[in-house]
Amino acid sequence: MGKTVIIGGVAAGASAAARLRRLKENEEIILFEKGEYISYANCGLPYHVGNVIENRSDLLVTKKEMMESRYAIDVRINSEVTSINRDSKSVHVVTKDGQEYDESYDNLVIATGSSPVRPAISGIDLPKVKTLWTVPDTDEIKKYIKENSVKSATVIGGGFIGLEMAENLYGLGIDVTIVEASNQVMAPVDYEMALLLNENIRDNGVKLIVNDGVDSFEDTSEGIKVKLSSGKTVLSELVILSIGVKPNSKLAADAGLALNEKGGIIVDSHMRTEDESIYAAGDVVEVEDFIFKDKTMVPLAGPANKQGRIVADNIAGLDSTYTGTQGSSVVKVFDLNVATTGANEKALVRRGLVRDKDYTSVILTQNSHAGYYPGAKPMIIKLLFSIDGKKIYGGQIVGKDGVDKRIDTLGTAIRFGATVKDLTNLELAYAPPFSSGKDPINMAGFVAENVVNGLVKQAVWNEADTDKESVILDVREQAELDVFAIDGAVNIPLGQLRKRINELDKNKKYIVLCAIGVRAYNAYRILAQNGFENIKLYPAGVRFYSSTH
Ligand code: FAD
Repeated sequence: MGKTVIIGGVAAGASAAARLRRLKENEEIILFEKGEYISYANCGLPYHVGNVIENRSDLLVTKKEMMESRYAIDVRINSEVTSINRDSKSVHVVTKDGQEYDESYDNLVIATGSSPVRPAISGIDLPKVKTLWTVPDTDEIKKYIKENSVKSATVIGGGFIGLEMAENLYGLGIDVTIVEASNQVMAPVDYEMALLLNENIRDNGVKLIVNDGVDSFEDTSEGIKVKLSSGKTVLSELVILSIGVKPNSKLAADAGLALNEKGGIIVDSHMRTEDESIYAAGDVVEVEDFIFKDKTMVPLAGPANKQGRIVADNIAGLDSTYTGTQGSSVVKVFDLNVATTGANEKALVRRGLVRDKDYTSVILTQNSHAGYYPGAKPMIIKLLFSIDGKKIYGGQIVGKDGVDKRIDTLGTAIRFGATVKDLTNLELAYAPPFSSGKDPINMAGFVAENVVNGLVKQAVWNEADTDKESVILDVREQAELDVFAIDGAVNIPLGQLRKRINELDKNKKYIVLCAIGVRAYNAYRILAQNGFENIKLYPAGVRFYSSTH
């Protein structure tokens, strides 16, 4: 019989504990959690603030009592581990009511998660500047909103938690402003994909300020004043700070365990630290990037749960390894869903890859299911892949319906090393309410395959703005142009193109555009077969153009 001590009782820690019990009935397992709750649904917290999840108890997935009775785990809540003594193989514990003791271990699991960052900005410690990370944080925010009948809030940070909070606060009738220091919300997607969210956020009545960081917070008689780098101020009654997280790795650092430059605990593929008796899992560890095989930090629930399970396997003597994180994630932003898997274009560029030399991308508009079946909603897909199509780097999708299933299809394909050709061959379930005979992911494969084979070249989303020599050739009908036309574009409807092709100049660069890209592709092929060499296809059509311009 061995003794395993787990520090941290939520995603990774609780997973490790339950799995270890299933594998080792005679193991002594002690779970220390400094808070009052174990195994709660962090991901549901914004929705409890917004009363979408009404019952607080629904957030408490597995309670202490169940962990004890069903899994025979010795759960010690309100118990913070304050140090690890690797020589004596023991941890020092301080309880909420002030008791202190040491507890020995054979195997130790550090699953301490991460905490919201609070940079040294003047006024950041004001009580009205709150973060949402735990159940007590949620209680506090809800109480504050209720007791003060809060009518306005500023959310600092446009990441997924910031956006979820903005939506939920807005749902409570609160006037919300999002302040984002970088030039886009949702950093995991590329700029042009994030622009689709900007429009939606603003259309839903939330004010969005980008490219403007916070200089200071000041509590005034009118409310809390957020002063921005631009000199602008935003006044509201509540501030939610959501600008990223840092790993809770101080315990590990103090115990002399190796950390990376971001403070992530360094573990091997078995989730073991350099000390063979100490494992670590979840937000607190450095992971391998699945696409590039270099090291990164990805604080997400799925990886944390899986890593906890792997830790338990290894403690129980099973040879189980973690094969890296590809950052698959999905978030609802008002009536849009945005999802990503693998590397985005920013990550490729950061790693020195060059567009049109090492990688390229396609962007396309597809319907969530057959257009003739009621309720089909468009989605925009961006796929990044190597020039030869043999490697898919990643994908991003923004749309109203069916986004999650397509990102998961793509994420799974990437996990198993799919090529662009493989996407065209995927046989995916189809009936009109669910998809089309050619699923959006097949279509992404077809378009990418056409690019790989040289049948078509896609422009980047803003190429017509940056390359002043190029001209947009819009092949939509007059009625569509009456609704939205692009200044300076040449208009020849597809049906007239063969007859009017002489109106075009073979020496000019054309970017061909239509509503969603299908007519433009046909036009492109006509031009290509008539000796036009300087042509590109505008990705995803005019809807994408109008949302990004
Ligand atoms: P945690 O789940 O944070 O657990 C760590 C625990 O360790 C904490 O309870 C902490 O109190 C305890 N602890 C820390 N130090 C000590 C100590 N010294 N002694 C004792 N106990 C200690 N991820 C997604 O994939 N999708 C989502 O939609 C999503 N939404 C989220 C929404 C919110 C509001 C939040 C906060 C997170 C969200 N996440 C989401 C992230 C996800 O919850 C985390 O990635 C995941 O919980 C990490 O698991 P973990 O076990 O590493 O850490």
